[in-house]
Amino acid sequence: MSLLSSKRSADLHLHTLFSDGTYTPEELVSQSLKAGLSAIAVVDHDTVEGVSPTIAEAKDQALEVLAGIELSAAYEDKEIHILGYLIDHQNKILLKKLESLKENRIERVHKMVEKLNNLGIDLKPESVFALSGNGTVGRLHIARALVKEGLVRSLSEVFQKYIGDNGPAYVLGFRFSPKEAIKFIKDSGGVPVLAHPYTLHNDELILEFVKLGLMGLEVYYPEHSQGMVNFYLELAKQNNLLVTGGSDCHGKAKPEVRLGSIKVPYELVEKLKAAKEGLK
Ligand code: AMP
Ligand code: ZN
Ligand code: FE
Ligand code: FE
Repeated sequence: MSLLSSKRSADLHLHTLFSDGTYTPEELVSQSLKAGLSAIAVVDHDTVEGVSPTIAEAKDQALEVLAGIELSAAYEDKEIHILGYLIDHQNKILLKKLESLKENRIERVHKMVEKLNNLGIDLKPESVFALSGNGTVGRLHIARALVKEGLVRSLSEVFQKYIGDNGPAYVLGFRFSPKEAIKFIKDSGGVPVLAHPYTLHNDELILEFVKLGLMGLEVYYPEHSQGMVNFYLELAKQNNLLVTGGSDCHGKAKPEVRLGSIKVPYELVEKLKAAKEGLK
């Protein structure tokens, strides 16, 4: 391995305005170059629409863009996010299913706004859709709309009081089971990796998902302590799992999470590519 390649780094968890981030493909590429990254992965919620424009934007620049997605799944009453790396983002079957997920998210927002209205909060669905534009709409847009309209003080208050996973205005949208999400990603040529494993609060469950075909763990994540990183690294090693990491940057929607705040060695990208080849 050359010295140069060992220094290349990647941020493998970025959102764009095609879901609930705010960066355009142009901004994502320029910010990534500014952060000194060699590779990034676009992993928007339930959509791959941001992938092609970001690849096109980076074409003549020293930045590699990996296709990806962050799928929502549910296990019992827990929300689980599964990343799909190097997914075939032009696959027709994939795109058709994602279209229905996008519609479902719109209906879900209407239901959540109705619940908020019943709680006495005067939010209009249009204020939410004004923020999501043509992208997949979600809870972060609802939270931003509430803060923007001055109806709630902060994003964290919105999630704590209303739309956190067990909140009174939370609505579970369409959710794959973990098994379905893993299969769906693999069938679309992608490598399934468990996002931010600490949110599970249950490490046994990870091994269950491995039995279902999960291939990797997002070990490096802003909310993971050094102890967690060590723990998940060991778990990955014991179970022959891939290791990934990324910032989960949402642009200006979460200004405290900087793009490139997590940088993983480029070797992890090479391992993802080798794993994808092994799927064929
Ligand atoms: P959804 O896919 O619509 O259920 O929304 C999930 C997204 O909401 C996550 O990816 C985050 O961007 C955001 N989110 C969830 N919980 C919180 C929280 N407690 N604080 C801030 N953002 C959150
Ligand atoms: Zn998000
Ligand atoms: Fe997530
Ligand atoms: Fe994310």
